[in-house]
This record gives sequence, structure tokens and C-alpha cells, in this order.
Amino acid sequence: MEFNEISWLVLAALAIGLVVQLWLEKRHITYIRAHRDKVPDAFADKIPLDAHQKAADYTIAKTHLGIASTLLSTGILLLWIFGGGLELLDTAWRSFAWSNILTGTALILSFMLIGSLIDIPLSLYSTFVLEDRFGFNKMTGKLFIVDMLKGIALAFLIGTPLILAVLWIMEKSGSLWWFYVWAVWMGFSLLMMWAYPKFIAPIFNKFQPLEDKELKDRITALLERCGFASNGIFVMDGSTRSGHGNAYFTGFGANKRIVFFDTLIKSLSADETEAVLAHELGHFKRNHIKKSIALMAAMSLAGLAILGWLIENPAFYSGLGISSVSTYMGLLLFMLIVPLFTFFISPLFSAFSRKNEFEADDYAKQQSNAKDLVSALVKMYEENASTLTPDPLHSAFYDSHPPAPVRIARLQGV
Ligand SMILES: [Zn+2]
Repeated sequence: MEFNEISWLVLAALAIGLVVQLWLEKRHITYIRAHRDKVPDAFADKIPLDAHQKAADYTIAKTHLGIASTLLSTGILLLWIFGGGLELLDTAWRSFAWSNILTGTALILSFMLIGSLIDIPLSLYSTFVLEDRFGFNKMTGKLFIVDMLKGIALAFLIGTPLILAVLWIMEKSGSLWWFYVWAVWMGFSLLMMWAYPKFIAPIFNKFQPLEDKELKDRITALLERCGFASNGIFVMDGSTRSGHGNAYFTGFGANKRIVFFDTLIKSLSADETEAVLAHELGHFKRNHIKKSIALMAAMSLAGLAILGWLIENPAFYSGLGISSVSTYMGLLLFMLIVPLFTFFISPLFSAFSRKNEFEADDYAKQQSNAKDLVSALVKMYEENASTLTPDPLHSAFYDSHPPAPVRIARLQGV
């Protein structure tokens, strides 16, 4: 391979991004350690010291694992690109002398498969060592393997037609291919959002309609008050895998669903559950889902337009260790290096997400009771061992949700 301006640009983004990430993680750990021995004043009467310390230790352990994972994936990316890994895989598939579309599909699928095999050790460690040490893991070895096999089978089943279609468009549809690929990609994403709750999530989890009569009546009343039509309220058996609890809102059009983890239903009172649901409805009512889709559409269109230009440029391939130019390799290289650059604008997306959380909280405050939402949040922080004292800069960069003290102070109108 030859080092050209593309190689240096990619290496520079990789190095700067890595330094920024490690620096933020180090700050995060130092900050949490410094605040480990005292529950923040606002929570002093709500969260016991041992729970606060457990959250600190858990967050620090997860951050260490995150650092290991970052270093590992950086090393693997270097091996794929500058170590000749992709070139080797490409040469192997080219030896079958299939069409470009088939060779490319085989290359991308095998690349994904190798990636998910490399991820297994860290994922095993995370589930059976780290989560287990803090009492969260409920997963058995058998379930882990079954989940993994299902995940891989599903990725092949859904990924193969998508990759074939994208590569076919890239080969056959002329210079505006990137626009057609974008249209297919958006259609695919919307289809997945629609299909996920009804057809994909049940492959992994069981979903039961909410049965608790009292809770159901209250929730139905809330939904009516908010003018919200959904395809049901479901309880998911999250406890078969983990002690972490959550609630979310999923689906699209008439396929909208509200899902509570069974772990959460168990620990929250009816008042608190209603307040959490009002927050989730706030996301819908304030059009956060539509806004996120619009943002994703704009980002992917910009990305594909850049790829449309790069893919014609031989320096793009040679600078990244590839000797034979092909549309499929252009696509794969692009998918590999894009995250190195989007990392630097990720704080904007985190800020957007936190703004949405505040709006959803405001909505919940109007439709339900702020006090109940606060006590629900405190329970969720405690039971999930989420830290109350993240490093402010780390939080600003990464967190999709505002730090607990900020969020709760706002709910209490302080
Ligand atoms: Zn939210």
C-alpha cells in the first residue's frame, strides 16, 4: 500500500479521537472516585451510601471495560485497513470470479461475521463477569449462545437482501446511485422500525399484555387524556437476561407499542409507572421520533453524497490498503472510517437527545405528577446503579440523558 493524504487523514482522525476518548474516560473515573464517599446533597435522604458506592464502582468497572473495547476495536480497524486484512479477504472472495455484486455481498457478510466473532470474548466478560459481579446478570450460558445464534441468523436474513439491493443499485443505476441507495436505505429503516416490535423483538423476548387491572385503568386514562392511540401496553420478560429495568416506546404508525420491563413494573408503584409512561408519551407528543428520523435522513444523505464523490477516487482505495477498485469495497471502507469522523460531532447529538429528555419531562409534569416521576427516577438510578456524579464534560459529550441531579432539580422546579 501507499500512504497518501487519505491515509494520513484517517490516521489523524483515529489518533485524535482515541486521545479524546481516553482522556474523557480518565476524567470520568477520577471524578466518580472523588465523589464516591458522599451521596450528593439532593439525594442524601433518598439513596443510601452503599448504593451510591455500588453505582460508582459499577460505573468505573464499565468505563474500564469501555477503554479495553475502544483499544481493541482500534487495533482491529488498523489490522483491517493498514494491516492488509481487507485486502486479503477481498482477494480470497475474488478468486471465485463471481459478479461484483455477489463478491461484494459475500465480502461484506463475511466481514460482519468475523467482527461479531471477535466481539464474543468482551461480550462474555461483560455479561458473566462484570454484570454478574454487581448482581445484574440473569443470563445463562445457554441463553447467551441461543441469542447470539439468533442474532447472526437474523443479520444474514435481513442483511443479505439489503446488501444485494444496495450493491445492485450502485453497479447499475448510473451517477446518481447514491441518491437511490439513500431512498432504499430510508425505506428499509422505516420498515425495520415498523416491523421491530411485532416481528423481531418477540424472537428474543416474551411480551405479555399488561394484566394488572388497576395499573391498566390508570394507563388507559392517561393515554386517553393525551390523545394517544397505541397497539397496546406490554410487559417484557427483561428479567430473564438482566436485573436492569427500563421502559420504552417503540414502533411506527399503527404498530406503536409501549413496553415496560417486568423488573421495572415490579419496583415502581402505580403512580410512578404512570409518570414514567407520561414521560415516554412526551417523546411522542413532542415529535422526537419524527425529528430523529429527519436527522438520520439528512445525515445519511450527506454521507452517501460524500461517498458518491470518494468512490470515484483511486487514492481512496490505495490509501486504505486496497489494490483493486470496486463499488462494494468503497462502501465497506466508507462504513469503516465514517465513525472516526462522526465521533467529533457526537456531542451535538447527545445535546439534542438531552434537550428531548427535558421536553419529555416537561410533558410528564403537565400530564402526570412531577413528584412521582422524581421518585421513579431515583428508584431507577438506584436499582440500575447509575452514577449520580458523572464527570460533567464526559456527560456533555456522551450522555443521551441529563445527569440525575440536573434532571431532578428541573422537575422539582428548583
Ligand atoms: Zn426519555
